[in-house]
Amino acid sequence: MKKYRAIGLKLTPQRLSIFDYLDGNTEHPSAEDIYRAVSKKFPTMSFATVYNTLEALKKKGNVLELTIDADKKRFDPNTALHHHLICLQCKRIVDIMSVYEISIPDSEKMDFKVVGNHIEFYGICRLCMKKKPHLKKNGGKNERS
Ligand code: ZN
Ligand code: MN
Repeated sequence: MKKYRAIGLKLTPQRLSIFDYLDGNTEHPSAEDIYRAVSKKFPTMSFATVYNTLEALKKKGNVLELTIDADKKRFDPNTALHHHLICLQCKRIVDIMSVYEISIPDSEKMDFKVVGNHIEFYGICRLCMKKKPHLKKNGGKNERS
């Protein structure tokens, strides 16, 4: 919680409950997910409050915005280096903590100093495979045959 103190926004009970919801959350919620969860406790809270708070957290580097889900932005309070795997069916995102040694050949990196990477893996989760066994063979988009 301490890390959220200095985001330059007034710490209202609503905002504190957003921090509380995010803290240690590994579900990679969307802004809508956060709004739905927190407005149960604060029915008068607006979506704009959630949105503005997320933007402030993002600016301060307390939350990462993920673009792995093409349908909506997802947020991750875990800002440590890690990668993601998304289920193309239910859009569940899980953390991949393995470290990959990847380097770009000098001929391609155009004198950039590379400071990081983020790998997006796509797949079908176990629950979705159970529901639709044919997906086991055909993962959907981005698949090579
Ligand atoms: Zn799934
Ligand atoms: Mn993550």
